[in-house]
Amino acid sequence: MDTADRSQRDGSMDWPPIHRAPTLPPILGDYDATRATFTWAQARSELDGLPGGGLNIAHEAVDRHATGALADTPALRFVGRDESVSTISYRELRELTDRFASMLHDLGVGRGDVVCTLLGRVPDLYLTALGTLKTGGVYCPLFAAFGPQPVRERLALSQAKVLVTTSADYVRKVASARADLPALEHVLVVDRAAPDGAVALPDLLAATRSTVAIAATTPEDPALLHFTSGTTGRPKGAVHVHEAVVAHHATAGFVLDLRPGDIYWCTADPGWVTGTSYGIIAPLTHGVTTVVDAADFDAKRWYRTLAESRVTVWYTAPTALRLLMRAGDELPHRFDLSALRHVVSVGEPLNPEAVVWGERAFGVPIHDTWWQTETGAIMISNYPGMTIRPGSMGRPVPGVDATVLARGEDGRALVIDDHVTELDAGAVGELALRPGWPSMFRGYLGDDARYRACFAGGWYLSGDLARRDRDGYFWFVGRADDVIKSAGHLIGPFEVESLLMEHPAVVEAGVIGKPDPIAGEIVKAFVTLRSGFLPDDALRQELITFGRHRLGGLAPKEIDFDQNLPHTNSGKVMRRLLKARELGLPEGDLSTIESRP
Ligand code: ATP
Ligand code: MG
Repeated sequence: MDTADRSQRDGSMDWPPIHRAPTLPPILGDYDATRATFTWAQARSELDGLPGGGLNIAHEAVDRHATGALADTPALRFVGRDESVSTISYRELRELTDRFASMLHDLGVGRGDVVCTLLGRVPDLYLTALGTLKTGGVYCPLFAAFGPQPVRERLALSQAKVLVTTSADYVRKVASARADLPALEHVLVVDRAAPDGAVALPDLLAATRSTVAIAATTPEDPALLHFTSGTTGRPKGAVHVHEAVVAHHATAGFVLDLRPGDIYWCTADPGWVTGTSYGIIAPLTHGVTTVVDAADFDAKRWYRTLAESRVTVWYTAPTALRLLMRAGDELPHRFDLSALRHVVSVGEPLNPEAVVWGERAFGVPIHDTWWQTETGAIMISNYPGMTIRPGSMGRPVPGVDATVLARGEDGRALVIDDHVTELDAGAVGELALRPGWPSMFRGYLGDDARYRACFAGGWYLSGDLARRDRDGYFWFVGRADDVIKSAGHLIGPFEVESLLMEHPAVVEAGVIGKPDPIAGEIVKAFVTLRSGFLPDDALRQELITFGRHRLGGLAPKEIDFDQNLPHTNSGKVMRRLLKARELGLPEGDLSTIESRP
């Protein structure tokens, strides 16, 4: 049975739906009623707008809370590598970001200028992001662990005028390429001893006056530049505008259920879109306290952070959840996670087992959300209070229309004379969205043709394949590029990976199509084992049999063990790289591959 046939039955992988009464009445209480009446204009009216007209993300995130009831609420709660805790209140954040904007102003940086950070999760990153937005500049985060080449490429492509980084990173990754970066006028280092070619940020901040009028940006002014994860190829630079904050705010209400008083932790690194949309902007617009942990993943430390910061809402990713699962079921029970009300995930398909594991480990199931760098905000989601169908991405957020389009030979939506065909429930096709939501990207930097090619027949084409069931839940099948065609069947890697992860020995899997003279392609799986399991032929055979029983023709014919599946540094399994390595083909752009210590 192929993926399309299986989906004719509404359920997916035979996991029972989960309905759990929320502990607080959710912000999105009645999905259908809200969806029927919601407008983006109404969502916009929940924001303030600039006093003289216009819209600026930093005003909505910071300034409007800096006087009044939330002024002394911690906006950011930093947990240092040594686990020391420091906080910045909304009032302080306003002062600090005003000062930062004023300093940029002194340097002649303003409307439309690009300011990049190459920093870990430290306070200066947050001040740069928000201070830049206040000047009307465009903020562009670069992932801190990038090597010299990806940093230089992105600085050149973005025409960055300012880079905020550390002395060590400047010297190692940028200094020798300065001559090739004529647009880069200022390098500001967060430590005091500035190397040649850079200036010490603390000195500049100390010298500036502390107030500056926030730039009178319009909703359509560019605000953010985000590079994609590079899972399928060379990363693209997606441009977002100030209007995006309307979607950040609305979705953080509906999906994350944020409200003042919440302690919220988004584990995504601020180098990626999730870390900005939902790690900086959205929580601040809701006046909550955001936890920022400077250290990298460590299961015990993460549970301790959840417990000691009394986190109420947690937005994380499948890869991290699978690492926690690998660390065992007993560990979370050693910590007091009683404050945790809502757990949400994004970035990769979330296998049903992980959803259910959440209930065991935290007492709350994990709510999957789907979106992309290009969409700027969550588009499809499971909501607190709504029945979860484990393995489904959920339903479109109010204000977003999603559909599934018939595919052509290349696996992407079939477009004839700018016409596309919407598919009925059950059928697999390209996931598409009706343009018009506020955080939609407004271009790919330097690649207008590619941007225009994302739209057809009045839809934005996502490049992902999905199906929808009769109740309007969407089910992820795979990226259009990753889908496997075997003996006339279409096989979505996610379904095979999910099934393999149900086996007690398997913690993560990456599935590819391997060319085969008879079947066209056969399914090959690379699996990571839980500790305690031996990668031997007996286990390999057991997994093949396990797959065959449950998946029939979809089952992997070949299985390799791989304790280090390649991931992007935003946490996604790089199936294209597994495939290139398997076939001995060029590995392509590896600028975003996770480097393991
Ligand atoms: P590139 O576009 O450079 O190849 P990328 O698509 O991985 O990289 P992002 O914009 O960070 O870059 O990721 C968005 C993609 O991540 C989605 O298109 C989808 O393939 C995947 N994704 C995100 N959330 C989910 C989810 N909940 N379920 C399944 N896939 C998801
Ligand atoms: Mg993409």
